[in-house]
Amino acid sequence: MSIADNLARIHDRITAAALTAGRDPAEIRLVAVSKTRPAADVLTAFQAGQTVFGENYIQELLPKLTEVTEPVEWHVIGHLQSNKVKYIAGEVSLIHSVDRLSLAEEIDRQWGRLDRVCDILIQVNISGEASKSGTTTEEALQLLHHCARLPHVRVTGLMTMPPFFDEPERARPCFAALRQLADIVTAEAIAGVSMNELSMGMSGDFEVAIQEGATLVRVGTAIFGER
Ligand SMILES: *Cc1c(COP(=O)(O)O)cnc(C)c1O
Repeated sequence: MSIADNLARIHDRITAAALTAGRDPAEIRLVAVSKTRPAADVLTAFQAGQTVFGENYIQELLPKLTEVTEPVEWHVIGHLQSNKVKYIAGEVSLIHSVDRLSLAEEIDRQWGRLDRVCDILIQVNISGEASKSGTTTEEALQLLHHCARLPHVRVTGLMTMPPFFDEPERARPCFAALRQLADIVTAEAIAGVSMNELSMGMSGDFEVAIQEGATLVRVGTAIFGER
């Protein structure tokens, strides 16, 4: 299967999952996770209509920023070290993986130098699994209140990465819990914080995530093949 074929099949599956859940398929954006893949694969996907790409590692993203000259939108989806933020300031349109105040403050500082605002998601470790990054559910609200005071950061939603399960249904409670947390945040009505985006679901479980309210699904393997 080619990248274009894979993309077409994933779009069909996104549409079907959305309709099953009574949702408008247009509410869901596909983030093509291009980590470990060469810039040529990004170009191939772009030519097949894919515009949003997610990268985990800044050292891998930086060369792609120059190699890919097409107007793609880059998202950071992996653990981000504060000392790397300066390299991507103004270059990425969404950071999914903000899990601590010191990182949000550095994003605020670097985007502030450009007099711009960076959209971010708060990554929540919904399952509480020790190996996963993300705030605890309890810390999330406090972090959101702090982020709301940063002028060059705008929180637009939440992200989570459940533990790996063979069976996608087992991830459903994590996705449902993230959506419930977003509802709690919305009820708090924190000025400047919106819960428009729920980034959840990967190759193995994006349909379940869509049924639970995902607006951004992060899919790598099912588009580009095994890493
Ligand atoms: C690698 C990765 C993905 C994509 O995973 P696939 O199983 O290849 O679809 C999504 N989100 C994050 C945070 C990742 O690191």
